Amino acid sequence: MMETILVLGGSFAGISAAHYALKHTLPQLPKKEGTAYNVTMVNPSKDLFWRIAGPRAIVSKKLMPSSKLFYPIEPAFAYAKDKFTFVQGTATHVDAAGQTVSVQTASGEQKSIPYVALIIATGVTTPSPLFTQTTDRASLEAQYGAFQKRLGATTSVVIGGAGPVGVETAGEISEMLNGKPGFLGSEPKSPKAKITLVCAEKKMLPILRESISKQAEKLLKGLGCTVVYNTKVVSATNPAEGSKTAVQLSNGETLEADIYIDATGVRPNTGFLPKEWLDNRKRIQCNPKTLRVDVAGARIYVVGDAGSYTRGGVMDMYDAIPVAMTNIKTDLIAHINGAAPGPDRHYTANLKEQQICPIGTSKGVGAFGGNQIPSLMVWGIKGRDYMVGMLAQGQMNGDKFAKETKWKPQAVQAVGQAGLSRG
Ligand SMILES: Cc1cc2nc3c(=O)[nH]c(=O)nc-3n(C[C@H](O)[C@H](O)[C@H](O)COP(=O)(O)OP(=O)(O)OC[C@H]3O[C@@H](n4cnc5c(N)ncnc54)[C@H](O)[C@@H]3O)c2cc1C
Repeated sequence: MMETILVLGGSFAGISAAHYALKHTLPQLPKKEGTAYNVTMVNPSKDLFWRIAGPRAIVSKKLMPSSKLFYPIEPAFAYAKDKFTFVQGTATHVDAAGQTVSVQTASGEQKSIPYVALIIATGVTTPSPLFTQTTDRASLEAQYGAFQKRLGATTSVVIGGAGPVGVETAGEISEMLNGKPGFLGSEPKSPKAKITLVCAEKKMLPILRESISKQAEKLLKGLGCTVVYNTKVVSATNPAEGSKTAVQLSNGETLEADIYIDATGVRPNTGFLPKEWLDNRKRIQCNPKTLRVDVAGARIYVVGDAGSYTRGGVMDMYDAIPVAMTNIKTDLIAHINGAAPGPDRHYTANLKEQQICPIGTSKGVGAFGGNQIPSLMVWGIKGRDYMVGMLAQGQMNGDKFAKETKWKPQAVQAVGQAGLSRG
């Protein structure tokens, strides 16, 4: 009999979970006569989309070529060939009682995949289609081609939402259209395009302190981009080709733009799950410590941006993976042996001021571990290639999880901290 750890989603979180399961979970499961274990991943595309680089990829193929933007998933698991199955498709229903997931494959086939443990890593969709790979690499590449053609003839752009995606996008577009910042960051003398970033709050980049947000505004200004604060985008028309979009703002103004980009947030990809599993923001409601989806039934877990436990981001997901995967191992061992499970591993959110935000190809703002970092460092870490060189191969190969990280059960930690260790 084949028992499956089923991973839904093959992006940052799903790929990491699958590597962890193959490297550390399967090898440690008790041997059972006649039973073999495998990891199966379901994802609509055969490739991971390096979403982090989206803001630069939309403006130029030359600055961010496809070879740096898409990474084939299946070859990254070649080392575990007989233990890993990739299904190109979309999960459409979970039957937790029957422990099966219905999948519509890319070729139109309906499949029912049984699981012994289910990891949901279906992430989020952005309101702008430019930052989400919904089907496959070719269709996103085609969108980028069409967008870049339009951008060439553009004289006005509005970007709604001043979180990191909005700010980075404003920076890349402004630099592409209006050129690099002048001496000492002076505003462009004759900008080609009017670019407006609409910010709902009194400051941009909510995770970062106000002074850093002000610095971001200064850098954007140097690229000919204006920030409008305390204002929301109420609606944007979908114009016929060649005509302008009317972007209606909450301050009563309407901006006419050649291009409007909605960067106002993300929507969890959870429509295929029972409503009772979701919180009021449609994220998968999980135990914030163990990352089990307690309400769903036995051996169901969430990792990545679809989970209620996280404020999102790849770094946070790297903290969550070892926790969820340790608890999966514990639960599976208990299930196989018919014994009580061992202690749980607990996740703790890192809520330090931490975000790195390039603004154009040579500058940016950010903080790491609660400390502000200079523009040059922002460029060095992220701005030069959106972390492709630093992280992409490691993400694909699961290098971050080459070793199983050590941990201590909470109770033992607490006793140790209180100085009552039994020594
Ligand atoms: C433009 C942009 C820039 C960003 N920059 C950064 C950054 O610099 N640093 C950072 O830490 N974070 C950044 N983020 C956030 C980061 O991209 C997310 O944290 C990360 O993508 C979350 O990974 P995930 O695997 O949880 O989900 P996702 O990346 O959303 O992936 C989910 C996967 O599941 C698939 N899927 C969806 N529904 C189903 C289904 N029903 N069945 C099967 N598969 C399904 C999707 O197709 C996708 O492949 C950025 C986000 C955006 C949009």
